[in-house]
Amino acid sequence: MGGVIDLHTHSTASDGTDTPAELMRHAAAAGLDVVGLTDHDTTAGWAPAVEALPPGLTLIRGAEVSCRWFGPDRSVGLHMLAYLFDPVQPAFAAELARVKQARESRAERMVTLLREDGVDIDWEEIRAFAAGGTVGRPHIAQALVRAGLVSTVSEAFASQWLGARYRVPKEDVEVFTALKLIRGAGGVPVFAHPLAARRGPIVPDELIAELAAAGLFGIEADHEDHTPAERAHVRELAADLDLVVTGSSDYHGANKVVRLSANTTAPEALDRIVDAASGVEPVKA
Ligand code: AMP
Ligand code: FE
Ligand code: FE
Ligand code: ZN
Repeated sequence: MGGVIDLHTHSTASDGTDTPAELMRHAAAAGLDVVGLTDHDTTAGWAPAVEALPPGLTLIRGAEVSCRWFGPDRSVGLHMLAYLFDPVQPAFAAELARVKQARESRAERMVTLLREDGVDIDWEEIRAFAAGGTVGRPHIAQALVRAGLVSTVSEAFASQWLGARYRVPKEDVEVFTALKLIRGAGGVPVFAHPLAARRGPIVPDELIAELAAAGLFGIEADHEDHTPAERAHVRELAADLDLVVTGSSDYHGANKVVRLSANTTAPEALDRIVDAASGVEPVKA
């Protein structure tokens, strides 16, 4: 599989703003040959994306799993991309459903905290906008934009809003459990933006080595949240640990400024991922 390969994007099935069908059309229009659909903690976008797949575009079905590492003196949230897994394998499907469900109570709690401080936003309205997709802070951010309290979604991630003050922790999947579940469903785990220190705390290199020993297959190097030095360091780690290196836009539609194919993955890396997977196949219309 060759051409322009972007393996990490979000639709309205989670916190993107393109429906899965729109995202497939935009991917083709942007000149992509291969697109990975990786909504947070859900496979709900897979069917509509397959349905709308334009001729010539290959779809790699995936998800971005909200994970947590419980270290000796701290715990760190991290994102594990899972590619080409069987979506009905019971153990993994149940864990994704649990995390998605817990995100609803968590979001409602954040709305309650905001309302207690006099911010007039409404949980039922936010839930309606999410339209059954995985709810995240970007949905609350959009409500803050609609209420005129901030002017962009990114602004709502400042520390006085959803970045810290009104942020409630997620219920994540313990990261070693996630690796077992993804592999158990025939999927291929790739660590998303592992060194993105600007997003928050990151895990030590030693943990990445332990993850590699426990079934991690790849690691994202080229991502907008990585500096050039961080990208280079990811490549060194990948070479030491024999991990596949990927790159992606992490496109979220209008919720972020990044465009499709802003970063891409090499064809040989995709071939290795496809060869390692046994859950579902890539789809080409
Ligand atoms: P959550 O998973 O609910 O904690 O929300 C995290 C999501 O918020 C990420 O997946 C991004 O889509 C989005 N996000 C995080 N930081 C920012 C930011 N500074 N600007 C816009 N979106 C952001
Ligand atoms: Fe997101
Ligand atoms: Fe992520
Ligand atoms: Zn993402």
